[in-house]
Amino acid sequence: MIEFKNVHKWFKDLHVINGVNLNVSQGEVVVVCGPSGSGKSTLIRTVNQLEKIQQGEICVDGINVADPKADLNRVRTEVGFVFQHFNLYPHLTVLENIILSPMKVKKQSRAQAEAKAQELLAKVGLAHKCDAYPQQLSGGQQQRVAIARGLAMEPRVMLFDEPTSALDPEMIGEVLKVMKDLALSGMTMMVVTHEMGFAREVADRVVFIDHGEIVEEAAPEEFFLHPQHERAQQFLNQLL
Ligand code: ADP
Ligand code: MG
Repeated sequence: MIEFKNVHKWFKDLHVINGVNLNVSQGEVVVVCGPSGSGKSTLIRTVNQLEKIQQGEICVDGINVADPKADLNRVRTEVGFVFQHFNLYPHLTVLENIILSPMKVKKQSRAQAEAKAQELLAKVGLAHKCDAYPQQLSGGQQQRVAIARGLAMEPRVMLFDEPTSALDPEMIGEVLKVMKDLALSGMTMMVVTHEMGFAREVADRVVFIDHGEIVEEAAPEEFFLHPQHERAQQFLNQLL
């Protein structure tokens, strides 16, 4: 479903993604971890072209998204993205946040988009908050709205960039629960997170990145119990 082939990216002379090869199959959940500054955000942002690459290929469901001629609207319809800082529109209600792109990009009618939004809000446990504004919600609630907003486009793939790292500890669980349900429903997911409990329980594979390179790639229990590379061992020791 997602295929990185020898992907390279530079910010000026800083080589931030260095020859990444990675395949994510349909329905698979891949957790990406690694030290701060290792290139995790940049890597997943290349999938929906929030970052351009200079070399290599990235295919999502058969579309080469890195091709300058790729249809960005199509790419962003297929690939949902959830940011660390929610990025909801503050001047729009929860419902309006969710229906905006389906109406604009997918040309859905308001009634159609609202029906889908209500269904998704129920799924993330926030049906009663449809008329609230983002600042009236807790961080955990805002992040659940952001996930519902991503799902409203009916993407083939969902990407998460440290979705719980801006949250107070007591709100992390409710967001991880929504993500776990989504994984169980068969969604293909790439998740940058340091929530190792989530990785152990939900991920099919863990990918460890350092200096823009995939250093280790393993099933969660293997990665956590028997990390092969020194850099992965050091990283895991720091999390303890
Ligand atoms: P991570 O998410 O693993 O912390 P990032 O992908 O954000 O890492 O960053 C990887 C490297 O690229 C870091 O050295 C960072 O400083 C640099 N970087 C990220 N975004 C930019 C940018 N827009 N311009 C220049 N350098 C950047
Ligand atoms: Mg990051």
